[in-house]
Amino acid sequence: MAAASVRESGSASASALREQDAPLIGVLALQGSFAAHTRMLRGLRARVREVRVPADLDGLEGLVMPGGESTTMTLGVEREGLAEPLRALIGGGTPVLGSCAGLIMLDREHLALMDIRAERNAFGRQTNSFETDLQLQGLAGGPMHGVFIRAPWVAEHGPDVEVLAEIDGHPVAVREANMLAVAFHTELGDDDRLHRLLLQRAREQASLR
Ligand code: GLN
Repeated sequence: MAAASVRESGSASASALREQDAPLIGVLALQGSFAAHTRMLRGLRARVREVRVPADLDGLEGLVMPGGESTTMTLGVEREGLAEPLRALIGGGTPVLGSCAGLIMLDREHLALMDIRAERNAFGRQTNSFETDLQLQGLAGGPMHGVFIRAPWVAEHGPDVEVLAEIDGHPVAVREANMLAVAFHTELGDDDRLHRLLLQRAREQASLR
């Protein structure tokens, strides 16, 4: 009886500790599909903060740049003075996951954090939106179901960019240092593997500090 209650209190404090240790992940929440990312991350027991102003970036251990509309998002980033603080956070090694417009935001012509040039709406009018399964190199558990909505592809990239998946020879999933970007919406559906990966990177990064 006594032993059982010791075990119980032991496991209660262990889960309290886990809660405290859960990485703090920001989701850029100016526009677009941020709520679904927030839900998915909370489902993985991350601590989540929606980011709207520079102060929201303080202490983040990971960040999601969601899909949406990159022109509108760029205006929001400029209006709120978020460009430099975002560059400092991500450039400083904080893990980031960019999805669709999030990939565009990371490219040379936007925040200039990844050595890629995204071609917006690259799949053209005929195939505005589509879904397909694709295997990301190195991702365990088989192909991901990708939802592409007026999606970009990566038209050019530098030598440090690793291409993880392509469609018809066009990169749609790329990684460079602490940044992972995919052209599809990874927050729709129930495949949370890329969010798990972000949390794992965030924990690793936090343990180095
Ligand atoms: N077409 C959008 C853009 O150019 C991206 C679409 C998306 O995020 N689903 O910003």
